[in-house]
Amino acid sequence: MKIINGKKIADQVLETLEQKIRSLELKPGLAIIQIGFDKPTEIYIQKKIQDAKQVGIKTEVHSFKKTSINELQKLCTILNKRRDIHGYFIQLPFSLDKNKFDIFRKITIQKDVDGLNPLSLGLLFQKNKRKHFVPATVKAIELCLKHVVVYSDDKYSDEELNEEFVTKELKDFLKGKNITIINDSIIVGRPLAALLLNYNSSISICHKYTANLTEYTKKSDIIITATGHPHLIKADMIKPNSILIDVGISYTNRSIKGDIDFNSLKDMDGWITPVPGGVGPITRAMLLQNTFNAYLNQIEKH
Ligand code: NAD
Repeated sequence: MKIINGKKIADQVLETLEQKIRSLELKPGLAIIQIGFDKPTEIYIQKKIQDAKQVGIKTEVHSFKKTSINELQKLCTILNKRRDIHGYFIQLPFSLDKNKFDIFRKITIQKDVDGLNPLSLGLLFQKNKRKHFVPATVKAIELCLKHVVVYSDDKYSDEELNEEFVTKELKDFLKGKNITIINDSIIVGRPLAALLLNYNSSISICHKYTANLTEYTKKSDIIITATGHPHLIKADMIKPNSILIDVGISYTNRSIKGDIDFNSLKDMDGWITPVPGGVGPITRAMLLQNTFNAYLNQIEKH
């Protein structure tokens, strides 16, 4: 398997962002809403803050041990108005007394840098041209695929690798491909299905109730898994030359593991993202990229 080096890809994105932000007088601002203090939530937030600092994006965290829809709505109203905050999101997963999806509608779409507002997802599904943000994890997966298709290939010059060209190449590559997504959440599986559908792929969404997962994975050119179950995907479940994107994270006593049993398939042909050092760092970089784009949009308007 060839490795998609997420850390390296993320570092390139962060470096470019740092260069663009360095000379700005007003820096982009990102607010993070934290509900609960479990260890993974703390780690994810700290890493995001660290990366933001590296590129010059200001961050602030609004932490709640417990909160209510009312309290969150008030906070969203304030953040929506503030000129120094260009993007914000609620760190998932979190628990809330009422239907937590209700709160996402309060995040103004201009600042919805993790694509949580149902309107952002709807626009993506519609292939609507109106400006909206795609969740950072989904952008990270898209960038992994771009890496496989063009960035890892020496035949393209730097001038050629502009956004339009790369997107077109990816579109040509993904047209008619069979893709299995193992996750149906609002932050990964559903928006990812919409994005890949827009590239004219054929998508299967699998989840914990899928009767025979292997039936789907075996026929897939690309498998994207995000379950948090270590070793869910093994060599006998995939066809040769597949592209495997492992989004899953599970913490064991001594290490972090993904969903894919890397050792069982490392000698096969194809591409794979490692865990750690794969989708995770790119996701954080994409969140900052979205924040910077939100900043540019808002500066343009004022
Ligand atoms: P979630 O709990 O909402 O989703 C889990 C998904 O896995 C569900 O669709 C569920 O049906 C499916 N699933 C669980 N067990 C399964 C099984 N045995 N077979 C098939 N499907 C199964 O969680 P989420 O927020 O979507 O995150 C999913 C995983 O991805 C977690 O491990 C999380 O830590 C990780 N994650 C990583 C990143 C990153 O950037 N690397 C970002 C977001 C989430």
